[in-house]
Amino acid sequence: MKQYYRFKALYPDCVLFFRMGDFYELFDDDAILVSKAIGLTLTQRTSGIPMAGMPYHAVDGYAQRLMREGYKIAICDQIEDPREAKGVVERAVTRVLTPGSVVDETLLDEDRANRMAAISFIGSGDEASAALAVADVSTGEFVVFEARAGEAADALLRYAPTELLFAETEDGKVPPRVEVVLKACGAAATPRPAWNFRPQESTEVVLTHYGVRTLAGFGLGDDDPCVLVAGALLRRLLETQAPEGSPRARAGGALAHLAPPRKLVAGETLGLDAASIRSLEIERTMRGENEEGTLVGVFLRAGQCGPRTAMGKRLVRDWLRRPLARREAIEARHGQVETLVSDPRMLAELRKALDEVQDAARIAARCAIGRAGPRDLVALARSLAKAGAIREAMRGAAAFAGLLGRFEAVKETLGPLGERIGATLVDSPPANVRDGGAVREGVDAELDEARGLETDASTWLASYQAELSRTHSLPGIKVGFNKVFGYYIELPAAQARRAPEGFTRKQTLKNAERYTTPQLSEFEGKVTTARERALARELSIFEELCGATARLSKEIVSFAEACAEADALSCFAAIAERRGWVRPRMSDLPVLEIEQGRHPVLEGTLGSEFVPNDVVLGSAEAPARLALITGPNMAGKSTFIRQVALLALLAHAGSFVPAVKAEIGVADRVFTRVGADDALHAGQSTFMVEMTETANILHHATERSIVVLDEVGRGTSTLDGLALAWAIAERLGGEGGPGPRSLFATHYHELTQLEEALPGRVKNLHVAVREWKGGIVFVHRILAGRTNKSYGVHVARLAGLPSEVVGRAKELLERLSVSHEPSDVRRIAGGRVGRDDGSQMKLFGETPHPAVEALKELELEEMTPLRAFDELRRLKGMVEG
Ligand code: ADP
Repeated sequence: MKQYYRFKALYPDCVLFFRMGDFYELFDDDAILVSKAIGLTLTQRTSGIPMAGMPYHAVDGYAQRLMREGYKIAICDQIEDPREAKGVVERAVTRVLTPGSVVDETLLDEDRANRMAAISFIGSGDEASAALAVADVSTGEFVVFEARAGEAADALLRYAPTELLFAETEDGKVPPRVEVVLKACGAAATPRPAWNFRPQESTEVVLTHYGVRTLAGFGLGDDDPCVLVAGALLRRLLETQAPEGSPRARAGGALAHLAPPRKLVAGETLGLDAASIRSLEIERTMRGENEEGTLVGVFLRAGQCGPRTAMGKRLVRDWLRRPLARREAIEARHGQVETLVSDPRMLAELRKALDEVQDAARIAARCAIGRAGPRDLVALARSLAKAGAIREAMRGAAAFAGLLGRFEAVKETLGPLGERIGATLVDSPPANVRDGGAVREGVDAELDEARGLETDASTWLASYQAELSRTHSLPGIKVGFNKVFGYYIELPAAQARRAPEGFTRKQTLKNAERYTTPQLSEFEGKVTTARERALARELSIFEELCGATARLSKEIVSFAEACAEADALSCFAAIAERRGWVRPRMSDLPVLEIEQGRHPVLEGTLGSEFVPNDVVLGSAEAPARLALITGPNMAGKSTFIRQVALLALLAHAGSFVPAVKAEIGVADRVFTRVGADDALHAGQSTFMVEMTETANILHHATERSIVVLDEVGRGTSTLDGLALAWAIAERLGGEGGPGPRSLFATHYHELTQLEEALPGRVKNLHVAVREWKGGIVFVHRILAGRTNKSYGVHVARLAGLPSEVVGRAKELLERLSVSHEPSDVRRIAGGRVGRDDGSQMKLFGETPHPAVEALKELELEEMTPLRAFDELRRLKGMVEG
């Protein structure tokens, strides 16, 4: 217990799993905690000390459940053979399991990266910035970048880290700026000692790990704040995979697969903030957690067209979360997809070759961390064997020259490795090398000899039995083996008294007696040692093989990355081919021209019922960059504007797009804001969130951005909302110079006046509906021009409101419809509409009429339609005097 408490003190923030023989045991508070958290049974070993345990082979399952509950786990193993131990067996914490540091297959999602991040804020106020580092230890990815402090959460969210490190503060509280990022990403919080983030310590750990004298080669200057976070992150990863004092730390070379930190340059990728990722439903729908109905789902759940490998799945997800923002890079991907689309045979061959490629990236990581099993190596060898077919498929295609080169570069080293693994290990080895039988026959003479003894054993036993039976005339005699008692000679109870001299009784059964002889014991000793010798040989052969693999982990990671890229591209091509998507033309001008565009998710579910639509913004013939879209609820406004944003995003990710033709100017950012979204965030009112996010857009959208706003301004009263929506539209419409390409769906028809106010800058679109037999039919067609009818009553009827209520509402509507006439708005909005004389917009007269005051007092929610009509009559009376 002293030893236990010593380790517990070293890992106070972890639940300590303490290996004792075939079990992991937990004591004290840890035992109580796991019994509550995951229902492990509590016992007591020493009175007064609660204990709980699990068989060692079941540890992953329990660890996973505990981690889901937010706990971190330190695994303390026996690091010497108990038989050789003098006194207490030597133990060491061999790994620390945290959400962002796991590498075991059973603990990971195959189609999702598992990233740990570190953050450090520099400076305060408006000038503050954040340095960020992100690594996926399960694949070796490692990047660093900077962001404005206010945008740190958005920047990091695109990497979806599961754990975030930050410098711990003296009061032990999470700093508010870190808290914001943690919340946005939903990552586990891991405070680290502040010195981990100091320049000297950080630099040192990076230099030492990569064996370099300067960080300049990684694009990091001496005073680059990214060094601080890179160092803190690397230190933590080493602590989890090779804790101090563990055999792995002593051996050195852990995490050989981790790439050096790569500094990301600002502007390389398309900016996408958290609100846009949410409202464009890239990975999650607004309502559900499910991937069904999301953009990622279009690719990952595409069955035959989906990525062939786990690595490809992860990359497609990353490409969609972080589309490119440089024209050459985007066009290069389009070129590759086009090559595959135009050559179906090449596509089919490539995908067939990729089909058998396993998760080489994660296997490389497990080798480098010392947690690979025989099945991992066999899977790796099988994947490497496909390299030739992949290269063959790509050969001759100019667009794939670079990728082909990457496969060629590792051919010389990885080819022989794959062959060596294949020649050493059997085709279907056991999961654990300790189970024996992983190494092929003929690989090692010593192993074969030891195994030979084992096989010979059965022959020897048979002849020994025959000999005993003959010499002692005991026909019922049997020689056998059982796991607990070992080898034995068995006589039926009836013959027991005839047992010859030299037989020593070993065990008594109901109908038989069991014995041993000096000869049998000697034989048993030989067989047992042979078995142990065989296993020891297998272990050492396997370890050597793992070592050889680990030494090539950089090359394997490179092979894996190339496979992932080929796979993601082939998935893009397969979808494009199946669904008839086209290559978008990219441009340096801020245009957005889409002919017959379709919503990538809805076209999948609605098929030919989906109505394609066009849009043109910022072209030479149609220079307006702001489109205002009106139309009744349910007509298809949201679908249309999201579709445009999604097509732009797809194009930037390197994919083809669902349209007949598309020309898209390269954007720096895509902003999407959906108003009146019910979700309440962090105690702020919906309206507050709506305005904060709109403020963000107005501050940061540039001439090259794409902005999509859906019903912004809805979260407040009608007039407030109209006024705000109006001002926002004016600003986007390019009051102070050319604005971003924007689509603004609104139910405020008044806004359509802006087309005249800002000629050539704003254009009106509306969603057509057909009136038919007193009702309406949605045709989902986007047309030029405005609507001035909202059809709310019609929609309410479609929604099933009782017919009397609908009828009454219609009647009231006819009497009430006063304020939606364009002429009113023109009057209200003063000089701003129609005439650009620069006077201020006045929404209301200077001294309010008493009727206006009375109007303000009305509590509409409390009123029945009848009372509303009476009030209206009273108000009218007041106005008419
Ligand atoms: P709005 O934003 O105008 O209220 P939505 O965009 O939410 O309307 O669309 C309402 C429904 O109409 C969607 O759920 C979708 O099923 C259908 N829809 C929208 N656009 C189309 C289209 N172009 N073709 C076919 N159906 C569509």
